[in-house]
Amino acid sequence: MKRLYPIVLVLVLLLSLAACSGPEDYRSPSPTQGGFSMSSRGSYVYGGKLYEARRVLSACELAHLDEREEYAEAFCFDPLCEHDSPNCKAFIGGAGTLCVREIGGTAAVFAAGGSGSENEEEKTAYKITRFDTDTLMKRELARGIPDPIETLCVTDEYVVFTVRQGGRHALRACPANGAKTLWADALWAEDKPEGADHRLLGCVGENVYYYDEAGNVWETTVTFEKAKILFTGILPYGYLLWDGYLYFPYNLSAQEIQGYTDCFTFSSADLFRTPLSAPSIENSEAVARGVYTSYNVIAARFFEGKLYWSPLDAEYFGTVEYGWSTSPDAPGAELAGGSMIDTMIRSTASLYETDPRTLEATEVLSDLGYNTVNILYAGPEYVLFQSSVSGYRTDVPYDPMGAQYVYDRTTAALIRYQSNSAEEHAGWFYRYLDLAED
Ligand SMILES: [Zn+2]
Repeated sequence: MKRLYPIVLVLVLLLSLAACSGPEDYRSPSPTQGGFSMSSRGSYVYGGKLYEARRVLSACELAHLDEREEYAEAFCFDPLCEHDSPNCKAFIGGAGTLCVREIGGTAAVFAAGGSGSENEEEKTAYKITRFDTDTLMKRELARGIPDPIETLCVTDEYVVFTVRQGGRHALRACPANGAKTLWADALWAEDKPEGADHRLLGCVGENVYYYDEAGNVWETTVTFEKAKILFTGILPYGYLLWDGYLYFPYNLSAQEIQGYTDCFTFSSADLFRTPLSAPSIENSEAVARGVYTSYNVIAARFFEGKLYWSPLDAEYFGTVEYGWSTSPDAPGAELAGGSMIDTMIRSTASLYETDPRTLEATEVLSDLGYNTVNILYAGPEYVLFQSSVSGYRTDVPYDPMGAQYVYDRTTAALIRYQSNSAEEHAGWFYRYLDLAED
């Protein structure tokens, strides 16, 4: 990539992909039920409901997203509670990463984020909370974690998670059902090789999958024994797990587009898959061609048993505009008060749905008027996404502080589901940068 500067914010959003999985997903894969999926920062769709956590856990039926303020329910149910203090039953601190899975017939929410503590010493620590939505039982599974938690997956016995330590990620685990695990008692994965960046791919049964910056995909157990390299790909990102397959990027290619001050290079890859039981490039097949890739992210995710992906094509680019930056590091023409920089405006959006059983692809949406920088959820009825720049539409306002939209696949209506409240959006982008803030 020739230019790093203009799309840093986009990347921060893209990097909010996280892993969340349940062991039953592989044993009895169902193409239409929740199943193995990737969690999102601050919100998670499960069983037709959007779960959201800022400081308080609440849920809203998907059908009511456009009237979310009215229908969202805090898991507190005390009519006298204002849901604004640590005394509220729904209070879970500063939630960053959210994962919902069924345990014992009920939806259990696992939230990882800031401690929410007023105590000076604990303020900057992180914790993992489990919230059972039928009994409203709330448990702190781990606390006092010194580093931000990026991703997690949940098995019957363990929560496996990555913490960000400087520029790398390290794997840790704690019991999913037990009492509080202090940081010193958490399970630590051995660094192989030493100091390696370990990105969590997911949990399958009692196995944990992750990859490193060399493109190695590793398999280990939930207690981090017998770690071994399963597969070596061409990129240090872009891997997915689904229904007994490892999906990986292959056939990388690049396209260039000339901006005002410089040239942008964009890349795409074909998405292949190979069985986890005998993974190799020879034993693989193409699933999607020309998938957009960028900065450790491939624009493909599984939801509700289907693969959703965005292609890289001329339409995808949209247009290049230029703006101003006051950063001394910004490249471009020096002008009073700042430097001129290019900004990518992707005003169109296309999204495809591929059935992993038949490998047939259908177009879900195109040319929405807003870009889709991060798909939070997609299913037969709705697509939820974040947008990073305003598009050409004026009927649906753009909110730079937290543009999140829902696209109704039945009516083709696009609605914004974030409220206008500045208070609610306070720290929104910051949440992606530092989970302690909420
Ligand atoms: Zn409350």
